[in-house]
Amino acid sequence: MEEEDYVFKVVVIGDSAVGKTQLLGRFTKDEFYLDSKSTIGIEFQTRTLLIGGKRVKAQIWDTAGQERYRAVTSAYYRGALGAMLVYDVTSRRSFLAAARWLADLRARADNSSIVVMLLGNKADLTNSRAVDSDEAAAFAEDQGLFFSEASALSGDNVEEAFLGLLKEIYGIVS
Ligand code: GDP
Repeated sequence: MEEEDYVFKVVVIGDSAVGKTQLLGRFTKDEFYLDSKSTIGIEFQTRTLLIGGKRVKAQIWDTAGQERYRAVTSAYYRGALGAMLVYDVTSRRSFLAAARWLADLRARADNSSIVVMLLGNKADLTNSRAVDSDEAAAFAEDQGLFFSEASALSGDNVEEAFLGLLKEIYGIVS
C-alpha cells in the first residue's frame, strides 16, 4: 500500500437537506443514496487522487446531522484546509443561510487561509430554481469564495467542484 503525500481535510457545511451527504457520497463513491440518512454517524469519507503528480488523500467530513442545531462543533472545523459551503438552488432560505455558515466558519476555523467553495446543489431541478447563478456568483466574488453549481442526483459537476477545491488547496500547501 503506497502512502499518500498529502492529506487534505475538507468540511462540508450548509443547511440541512441541501444535499451535503449526497454530494459527498457521489464524490467518494460515485453513488447517489436514496436513503441518505443511513450515513448518520459516519464522520468522514476519503478518496485518494493524483494532483500535480502527488497522491492526495481527500478526507471529506460530513456534519452527520449536527447542522440541524444551526452550528457544528469547533472539532468539526479543526485542521480543515477547505470547506464546501452548500446551498440548494431551489431554496432561497438555504442560500441566505450560507452567509451565516461562512461567518461561523471564519469565526471558528483554526486556519485563516481555508479555501472555501460556494456550491449550489440540485441544479437538476431547473423548474423550481429560486437562486440565480449570477446572484450567487456575485456573493461568492464579494466574499472571496470559489463558486460552482452541481447536481448530486445526476452527478453533474460534482467531481469538477471537489477537484477544483482540492487543486486550490494543493496550490496553497505545495
Ligand atoms: P443533507 O441534509 O444536506 O446531508 O442533505 P441530503 O444529502 O440528505 O439530501 C437531502 C434531500 O435532497 C434528499 O431527499 C436527497 O435525495 C435530495 N437531494 C440531494 N441532492 C440532490 C440533487 O442534486 N438533486 C435533487 N433533485 N435532489 C437531491
